[in-house]
Amino acid sequence: MKNNKENAWSILKRLVSYIKDFKLALVGAIIGMIGYAAVDMALIWSLQPLIDDGFTGKDPSILEMMPYFVVIVMGLRGVAAFMSSYCMAWVGNNVVMKLQRQLFAQLMLLPVSFFDRTNTGELLSKITYDATQVSNAASNALVKVFREGATAIGLIALMFYQSWQLSLVFFVVGPIVGLAINIVSKRFRKISKNIQNAMGTVTTSSEQMLKGHKEVLMFGGQKVENKKFEKVSNTVRTQKMKMASANAISVPVIQSLSSFALAFVLYLATFPQIMDTLSSGTFVVIISSMMALMKPIKSVTQINNEIQKGISASTSLFEMLDMNVAKDEGTYEVERVNGDISIKNVVFTYPKGDKPALNNVSFDIKSGQSIALVGRSGSGKSTIANLLTRFYDIDSGEISLDGKNIEEYRLTSLRDQVAIVSQNVHLFNDTIANNIAYASEDKFTEEDIVKAATTAHAMEFINNFPEGLNTIIGENGAMLSGGQRQRLAIARALLRDAPVLILDEATSALDTESERHIQAALDELQKDRTSIVIAHRLSTIEHADQILVIDHGEVVERGTHQELLAQGKIYHSLSQMQSSGEL
Ligand code: ATP
Ligand code: MG
Repeated sequence: MKNNKENAWSILKRLVSYIKDFKLALVGAIIGMIGYAAVDMALIWSLQPLIDDGFTGKDPSILEMMPYFVVIVMGLRGVAAFMSSYCMAWVGNNVVMKLQRQLFAQLMLLPVSFFDRTNTGELLSKITYDATQVSNAASNALVKVFREGATAIGLIALMFYQSWQLSLVFFVVGPIVGLAINIVSKRFRKISKNIQNAMGTVTTSSEQMLKGHKEVLMFGGQKVENKKFEKVSNTVRTQKMKMASANAISVPVIQSLSSFALAFVLYLATFPQIMDTLSSGTFVVIISSMMALMKPIKSVTQINNEIQKGISASTSLFEMLDMNVAKDEGTYEVERVNGDISIKNVVFTYPKGDKPALNNVSFDIKSGQSIALVGRSGSGKSTIANLLTRFYDIDSGEISLDGKNIEEYRLTSLRDQVAIVSQNVHLFNDTIANNIAYASEDKFTEEDIVKAATTAHAMEFINNFPEGLNTIIGENGAMLSGGQRQRLAIARALLRDAPVLILDEATSALDTESERHIQAALDELQKDRTSIVIAHRLSTIEHADQILVIDHGEVVERGTHQELLAQGKIYHSLSQMQSSGEL
């Protein structure tokens, strides 16, 4: 429990450190809030001379001044209120922006394994929902803390100034109210955490349905999806209701506790010893102060609710910001490697896998040579490509590029050396040109892009769009066919002009004629590059310098096309099956 409290403290401190950057706005807000509280206090204070001197006729000028006083004071109150709200909103919105930017940037540094085990929906909800909760803590709660805090302190001071005896009553009831608040706050924090998690499940299940909407339609999944969604949305509702009822109970409870104080004061005031020390003005000021204290007391419970929400939201955000980013300890940077790749005794298990996906794999590729990987589905071919680009780190063994361990390279420099046309290419909701030149739009001219697109045989279909290269292709290229998407991916790789090329079934979605065209382009492309070609169709890799047959994560055969045929083992039978199938 203590641990928990300390934790909440350190999180709060960290949150405050975010606010520190906006000191000026914060100072403005605090001045506004204190001004606001001071005006409230002045209004209540003015009751005493108004009643004791004004209405009794002792000093009639007070009655004449009162209308001006009220207007001026209320005007000041308005200015103070504006200043505090505006400045706090400034701070709050800036904090959200900063947090969201940090999260966004952090997400792009996290290792691939993180995304393997995390739902996109949860992450989206963190950036949108949780970050806003933090802003509420930063702005709403602080407005209440400072404004209501200053009001409460002012009112208590005023009460003591008028009659310390009666004011002491407040301190008898104060601790009881404090205790109640403490109990309520623990519950709030727990519920807030549940709400956040529930929000994550709402985004996740919506996202799953939206992404898979065609499967839903085809398999009649509406009922199942509805049921899933009804369940998660109901969880959110119950959690929110718990929050609302905790809130709804706490406010009246705390108020009735405070009303005891009021009743007690009224009772004490009937004692002659006390009555003699009070003027009617003083008495009115004390009663008004106590009534006015109800609002700050009520706000204190809400502040707490707000802060608890903020703490539990920032806990999960900070956890993510503190997460280890992908290891990038290498410092070696290089303009362009030759492309000698050496893989020695590599063993690798996926973070979620139970047995190695690659077991003791070794092979060398000389600069400019091509190696082909063939084998059953799930044998580990794509895994090799994942490791070369350090999407994952290997368990043991060594992978080196130009004789240098790839862990010694700076990640960006290493990835600059490799172009991949992968099995599942992702396209952005942008123009065709920007997709081909992704992330280097200003590095290439339109001419370069057209050249790459022509070589990849993409220009033919691009020209069919009225807007050509400037056509926007929809989310993940929704407007394109599988083969068209693949050709864009090839154009992308061509444009990158990297010394190492990985083609992971680059031509699997193409018809025989397109494939023949592109194969010619790819052959051309591979000429002065080191290339790793993964293909199911053996006819496309016959000319590779070396062919490796992978099975269950191990290299079981290696050699040239002719050599492997001559061995008469797995490759030979694969080849026979395919040629008889094709005939
Ligand atoms: P295909 O020809 O179907 O593309 P592949 O040879 O490329 O198959 P890989 O993608 O390398 O196969 O997968 C090798 C093994 O690793 C498979 O058993 C697969 O289940 C597992 N695997 C792949 N990706 C992951 C991942 N992200 N997390 C855990 N296991 C994975
Ligand atoms: Mg694969």
